[in-house]
Amino acid sequence: MSRANERDEMSTRPNDTSTELTWSRVVELAQNGNVPPPRRVEKSDAEWRKQLTDEQYEVTRRKGTERPWSSELCGLFEPGRYHCICCDTPLFDSTTKFDSRTGWPSFTAPLSPDVVAYAVDLSYGMHRIEVTCNVCDAHLGHVFPDGPPPTGLRYCINAVSLRKAKPEEPG
Ligand SMILES: [Zn+2]
Repeated sequence: MSRANERDEMSTRPNDTSTELTWSRVVELAQNGNVPPPRRVEKSDAEWRKQLTDEQYEVTRRKGTERPWSSELCGLFEPGRYHCICCDTPLFDSTTKFDSRTGWPSFTAPLSPDVVAYAVDLSYGMHRIEVTCNVCDAHLGHVFPDGPPPTGLRYCINAVSLRKAKPEEPG
């Protein structure tokens, strides 16, 4: 299919829901490619190592997973945004945070569709969808289709990948 045909098809659809955040949209992005990021931050491995703590580096740059219940962020529901620990891009807002009882901070949606990217993750014999920062490629966690409304999604995010900004902080 040519690009022109693709556009035609999009524009003739009466209610174009292709950007609506659903599980099928997430799967489509993971399989076919992500939306362009708002900006890019790229650093060498040595630079990330220097900037981050050992645990932050292990999780965000080497796709590690923190121990569940290892952070007070799980039970924190004060207003404010959660920024990427690596590049400081605002990624999630407290209004979409919910208590998943999994031991990891959980959200129903990212702050905007372009700040996170998705990838199919077949590690550990599982079929999961990885969530990364679209700006700096930091590993954040995974997304699952068992979340509450309105999206039905559960973004299961490592607390060490995030920095809780103060409510008055711009960003
Ligand atoms: Zn980032």
